[in-house]
Amino acid sequence: MEHTTNKIMSPTKGLLQSEELYQYILETSVYPREPEPLKELRGVTASHPRAKMGTAPDAGQLMAMLLQLVNAKKTIEIGVFTGYSLLLTALSIPDDGKIIAIDLNRDTYEIGLPIIRKAGVEHKIDFIESEALPILDKLLEDGENEGSFDFGFVDADKVNYLNYHEKLMKLLRVGGLVVYDNTLWGGTVVMPEESVPEFMKPGRQWTTELNKSLAADPRIQISHAPLGDGITICRRVI
Ligand code: SAM
Ligand code: CA
Repeated sequence: MEHTTNKIMSPTKGLLQSEELYQYILETSVYPREPEPLKELRGVTASHPRAKMGTAPDAGQLMAMLLQLVNAKKTIEIGVFTGYSLLLTALSIPDDGKIIAIDLNRDTYEIGLPIIRKAGVEHKIDFIESEALPILDKLLEDGENEGSFDFGFVDADKVNYLNYHEKLMKLLRVGGLVVYDNTLWGGTVVMPEESVPEFMKPGRQWTTELNKSLAADPRIQISHAPLGDGITICRRVI
């Protein structure tokens, strides 16, 4: 019964099914307001074979607003790539704000670094080249870090999202936000198993598990928004 009601209430054509609407949003509301350094970073990333990994500019625009709404000063990012989300975070927090940015790969971070430098925000960034989990554990060894982060962005190995979530729930202050990226995993979360491309199957499995867990987690308020490839915004409430 509940299922039927949900079906009736949902629109027949969602935003994600219309490429034209998506382009309209980008061209009308996102690109005209995108800060120059972010445009430039998108430009230098475009020729990278994995350019698609960069955070979607529409999701980025919302993240910039969220960062300012919670007055984020101390933040953490897991998954930097060439630095689109990192630079937008650095541009959104105050001059004495700090970002711990973790990625396995420093080379891709260095693609965007000259633009980050030119934008005058490098001093806010503590880049750590590492697997993210041990760094989160290390942060938690220092009691001062508990409940001290205002904002987190997770955009790395989907298999570990739930592990990151457990650690981030300890690092985040009550009222702080963590945003998970790619929570619709290319739309595969609703595809029948047989039509999901083989290479997307593991990610689909981890993503559906994550989505169920986040929806059932009483420590957070959530909003699962169809921006970019899907983002889930979680606000720690207890
Ligand atoms: N947020 C980035 C942006 O806006 O361009 C995109 C991040 S990209 C989708 C994912 C990144 O996660 C890659 O740069 C990859 O090296 C990194 N990564 C993957 N597994 C990781 C892990 N276990 N620990 C840390 N970083 C990881
Ligand atoms: Ca992503």
